[in-house]
Amino acid sequence: MTQEEAAERLAGVNARIAAAAKTARRAAKDVTLIAVSKMHDAPEIAPLIAAGHRVFGENRVQEAESKWPALRETADIELHLVGQLQSNKADAAVALFDAIHSLDRPSLVAALAKAIDAQGRHPRLFVQVNIGAEPQKGGCAIADLPTLLGSASQAGLNVEGLMCVPPDGVEAAPYFALLAKLARDHGLPLLSMGMSGDYETAVTLGATHVRVGTALFGARQG
Ligand SMILES: *Cc1c(COP(=O)(O)O)cnc(C)c1O
Repeated sequence: MTQEEAAERLAGVNARIAAAAKTARRAAKDVTLIAVSKMHDAPEIAPLIAAGHRVFGENRVQEAESKWPALRETADIELHLVGQLQSNKADAAVALFDAIHSLDRPSLVAALAKAIDAQGRHPRLFVQVNIGAEPQKGGCAIADLPTLLGSASQAGLNVEGLMCVPPDGVEAAPYFALLAKLARDHGLPLLSMGMSGDYETAVTLGATHVRVGTALFGARQG
């Protein structure tokens, strides 16, 4: 991708976010665009940084560790972990990421609390909710959310929001609305929802963070 293409795609996505925000009488600046760069390497990411974008997301700790330390020397980057996190990678995740969207179980509460305590770094935390109750997906069950939030709070973790990935192939809006309601019920201000196919819908339903890969970088090579 050339820098010109990167700038065009970025402007296009930002314009759609702004239009969706306007429809919902929200301020576009209250929506953070996370450019999900998983499976794209540094030469594909650099044009987006050159075009002025600063907020990026990855779904694997190891992949992020291999790409981002060098890219970060070029600009002041905010890096989000949007994929599942194994407890034995909690230390590495806390060291590298500015936000973690995949807190979803008690063992991870303990591991993150320990890592945060040891490093004195405080990534922004989202609890991932398995909003469609899909067995193959990460995220805590809706029924387990109050207990998980309680134990996070007891462990000294400051959870600020909820995250979800709705089921494929069906209308996402009802799932986004449900996640927004759960966040409201628990007094959590942040909502990480919406991907390339549905980020505008997510913005109209209150997303504060949209996670967009394909619409910015093009298709990922499997
Ligand atoms: C890959 C990924 C995205 C981005 O998906 P696109 O459809 O390419 O925009 C968003 N969120 C998560 C959790 C992902 O793994």
